[in-house]
Amino acid sequence: MQIKENKFIPSIFNYCDRWCEHCAFADRCRLYSMEEKRKEETGGKEFSFVEELQETFAETKKLIEEYSEKFDTVLPNFEEIEKKELPETQLSFLSTKYFEDAAVYLNNLMNEIKENSAVSVIIPQNPGIVPLHQIVGCYEVLQWYHTIIPVKVTRAISSAAQYDPGDEEFEYSMEDANGSAFVAFKSVLKSLVALGVILGWTESLKNETLNLIIDAGRIKSLIEKDFPGASMFVWPPVVKKEVK
Ligand code: SF4
Repeated sequence: MQIKENKFIPSIFNYCDRWCEHCAFADRCRLYSMEEKRKEETGGKEFSFVEELQETFAETKKLIEEYSEKFDTVLPNFEEIEKKELPETQLSFLSTKYFEDAAVYLNNLMNEIKENSAVSVIIPQNPGIVPLHQIVGCYEVLQWYHTIIPVKVTRAISSAAQYDPGDEEFEYSMEDANGSAFVAFKSVLKSLVALGVILGWTESLKNETLNLIIDAGRIKSLIEKDFPGASMFVWPPVVKKEVK
C-alpha cells in the first residue's frame, strides 16, 4: 500500500485516545497508516502489547525529530525528562485507584452480562430495559478508557512538572500536559456516560457503579482544577490549508 504524504494531519495521533477503529480521522492519520502498512507487510501478524508500544514510541520519536528539524523547533531533553520524579497528587492517586477498581468492576460486569444474556434466551427482555448490546458497548467503553485515564493523567502531571515558567521548554511541555489532560478528561466523560447507562440497567452492581461514578466525577473536577488549559485544547489539530 502506497501512503500519500499530503493527506495526513500533522501530529493528530499525539492527543487521541488510540481507539483507531472508532476514529473518524483514521484515513488522515500517519500513525494509523504506518500500522496498517506494517500489518500488510507482516501478513497480519499479531504483535504483543509491548512490541506494539516499543515500535510506536520509536516511530513517534522519529516523526517528532523529523518535524523538529523541518520546522526548526527545539525539543525538550527526553533523557532529562525521564530522570525527573513524578509528583504524587490527588489526581494521580485517584486515577490509579479508578484503574484498579474499574478492573474488578469490569470482571463483575462481564459476569452480569453473561447471566443476563443466558436468561434473555429463555425469557424475552423487558422492552423498557436497556438492550444488552448497548450494555456490551458500555463495557467496551469502560474497558478501553480505564487504562487511558491513568496513563494520560500521569503524562499530564509529568509534563507539567518538567519545567518552570521562563524555561525555554515550558510552553511546549505545558501544551503536552494540556493535550494529555484533554484526552484524560474526554475519557472520563465517556466513561461517566457508560456508567450512567449501566446504573439504570442493573440493581446488583448499583453500589460498585455509584462508587466508580463518584471517583470518575472527582477525577473530572481535579483535571478541570489542575489543568484549566485542557478545556481549550483543540483536537484534531487545525489544518489551515484544505488538502485535496
Ligand atoms: S488519530 Fe485516530 S487513527 Fe490515529 S492513532 Fe489516534 S485514534 Fe488511531
